Amino acid sequence: MLSRFPRLRLGHLPTPFEPLPRLSAALGGPEIWVKRDDCTGLSTGGNKTRKLEFLMAEAVAQGADTVMTQGATQSNHARQTAAAAAKLGLACHLLLEDRTGSTDPNYTGNGNVLLDHLHGATTEARPGGVDMNAELEAAADKARADGRKVYAIPGGGSNPTGALGYVNCAFEMMVQINETGLVFDHLVHATGSAGTQAGLITGLKACNAGLPLLGFGVRAPKQVQEENVFKLACATAEKIGCSGVVTRSDVIANTDYVGAGYGIPTESGLEAIRLFAELEGLLLDPVYSAKGAAGLIDLIRKDRFSKGQRIIFLHTGGSAALFGYDKAFPAK
Ligand SMILES: *Cc1c(COP(=O)(O)O)cnc(C)c1O
Repeated sequence: MLSRFPRLRLGHLPTPFEPLPRLSAALGGPEIWVKRDDCTGLSTGGNKTRKLEFLMAEAVAQGADTVMTQGATQSNHARQTAAAAAKLGLACHLLLEDRTGSTDPNYTGNGNVLLDHLHGATTEARPGGVDMNAELEAAADKARADGRKVYAIPGGGSNPTGALGYVNCAFEMMVQINETGLVFDHLVHATGSAGTQAGLITGLKACNAGLPLLGFGVRAPKQVQEENVFKLACATAEKIGCSGVVTRSDVIANTDYVGAGYGIPTESGLEAIRLFAELEGLLLDPVYSAKGAAGLIDLIRKDRFSKGQRIIFLHTGGSAALFGYDKAFPAK
């Protein structure tokens, strides 16, 4: 029972669950459906809103007046945290790591960064490669010494509290799946800080859904990503009273579509952005959802997912970042 945990309604839920007939026909493989977590409603949407419903409730319960978090310069998590803080009347301070080295003014100031500032958040830059969770702790301690009541949220909102948002998504999706009367074979999505995949696998296993889950990595090597997800899934299962429900073999990450590194667009990701935009009117982002979609498209072309199957793509959002990457899309 997730209602045991404090939660603030920040998202427009349930998000839609829809077929993608033109994309499915163009690829000639399985029937592809999309779970529209790009439509969670908060400041252009995205997956962090579900986590923030539980995290911000904890912040308010603890009497915080300030929330702080960290991410990459074009972090969707930072933008959604800034929006949630604005809605709740809390101050928000963001530490943004330069993970790509891009000096394009649209990368450093447009897209998510523009929205962070519109929501009233303050931001501080950090060079790439520093220990961002240590930086966050230090900045939070400094603000506490100045008398602020700080609630610090880890990168991506990925701890057992944040992951409850994706346990909730798993339950929500099972209701929608059952309403279609159809059988679905696989759920796929982009995985980064691990909270989305960890919450989903915990929720799916807790209700014995029989729906295998595949995460497409955007940063860490396969082994590291799977261990991160598994550890967080175990802690999340314990939190909801289902210890042991997730086994190591339930956690699968495919990291073949990362390319040169986090936040650096790939050819296959850019193709995925064009296909989704031109065939279905959907906006992916080059950092996360496009790399997940590129993995799905490639596995369909390699016949790993095939005709007769039904696959769900969880759209985790991120379209605001497109405006930081406009140079990747020259006009035709
Ligand atoms: C954060 C993010 C992800 C990855 O989710 P995690 O819970 O961090 O693994 C995927 N897509 C988008 C658009 C994101 O912003």
